[in-house]
Order: sequence, then C-alpha cells, then structure tokens
Amino acid sequence: MQFFDTHAHIGLIDDDPIKQLLITQEARQAGVTRILSICNNLIDFARVYGNLKMASNVYFAAGVSPSEVQNPGKDWLTKVKQNLQMPRVVALGEIGLDYYHKFGDKTAQIELFIQQLDLASRLDLPVIIHNREAGRDVLDILRDRLPPKGGVMHCYSENAEYAKKALKLNLYFSFAGNLTYKNARNLHETALAVPQDRILIESESPFMVPADFRGKRNMPKYLGLTAKRLAEILALSEEEMAQVLWDNSNRFFGLTD
Ligand SMILES: [Zn+2]
Repeated sequence: MQFFDTHAHIGLIDDDPIKQLLITQEARQAGVTRILSICNNLIDFARVYGNLKMASNVYFAAGVSPSEVQNPGKDWLTKVKQNLQMPRVVALGEIGLDYYHKFGDKTAQIELFIQQLDLASRLDLPVIIHNREAGRDVLDILRDRLPPKGGVMHCYSENAEYAKKALKLNLYFSFAGNLTYKNARNLHETALAVPQDRILIESESPFMVPADFRGKRNMPKYLGLTAKRLAEILALSEEEMAQVLWDNSNRFFGLTD
C-alpha cells in the first residue's frame, strides 16, 4: 500500500531544512510515498521549494491564501505564475474564502480568489480550495470560474447536501484527520454520498491530527490512519481503499508515472 498526502504544510511543521527532509523521509517509511507541499504565501513557497525540490516524493502547489489578503506581496500574481511554471509544481493553491478568520474584507478575498482561478485556467492547472464559513460564495464563484482541470475542496467540512451541489461541478473532496474523530458523523455521511472516484485524503499537517495522536502536532506519516478509517466507512479493504485514493490523487494532479 502507498499513500498520497495531498495537502501538507511542511513549512509550518518545521522551518529547518534538515527536519523538513526528515519529515518527508519518515512519511515515505510509513507508506506515504507522495506528498503535496502547500504554502499560504510566496515567502513560505520560496523556502520550502528551495529545501525540498530535490526530494523525489514531494510535489508542490503554489498560490496565495485568503490569510494573506491584506498583504499578498509585491507583484504577487506574476510571482505565483512564475512559481507555477517550476518543475514538480502541479496545482494552484491553496486559494479560497475564509469568513471565519478576520483576514480582511470579503470583496478583497473574492478578488484574490478570482484572479487565481483565472490564472489556473490560463495555465491549465487544477486548484486546491480553502472554504471556511464561506460555502455559498465559494460555490457561486466556482460555478462561473472553476478551471477546466477542476478543483478539490480541501479539508472537507461541509455536509453531504453541500457535497451534492459541489458534485455538479468538476470537484473532488479531500478528507483530513478529523474524519477519525468520534463526532465526525457529518463527514462519514459525506464520504458515503460522493462517488468513490472523487475522494482524496490529506494530512493538513501540522493541523487536524488523527484521533490516536490527538494533542500532538500532525505529520504526513500519520495519513494511513485517515485512510484506514475511510476504508471502514466505505466498507472496503485497506488495500482497496489505498488503491482508489492513489489512483484518484494521481489523476487529479495529472501525474501519469
Ligand atoms: Zn491548508
């Protein structure tokens, strides 16, 4: 069995280049043979990309998150475009809307989101979508502007009914460690309601640690626990589950090897 961690903030787990490399090696030993590195801003991307671009199990997304809306950086859109054209960069993200945190006004967030959706369309890349208490606006915008390569609703936290609406677009759903929590019935219902070929998993490390390690900092190496729980929910063997997730992830990110 091998797993693809489709969303890990390696730069937030540790700042040290050697430790970052170690995190990816420990993941590999635990069967997590591919990791998508996510950064919220240009500075984190430059650092993590510099540290890990030679790590053969790490791929990258580049983009500016809603958390950076007040100060995305000088010439940010040009720089995001340049980053997206570098080797092993396979998606634009994470981008989206966050009305829970007070990152800045909604109009500015929406503008940041839309500009990057259009960039992803021009570069023919898939997008990784962050949605916190902004589900309605996110779907309204995606209906008009989702890039042809589609998008993934990362760290899915809406209900099954929302997922059905999202399914009408070309969207995938990525479940994180909170799927393993006892009170996650909502997520279990969603996992059962969406087609199996639309499901991904992610660590969202250093956040969302699976239940067995609650209180600890999350790492990509714990991803197997989320896959195991998902297999139970969907009544698949662990091997079948791993294969489905592996195929979905590589298809979504356009990795053919
Ligand atoms: Zn994230």
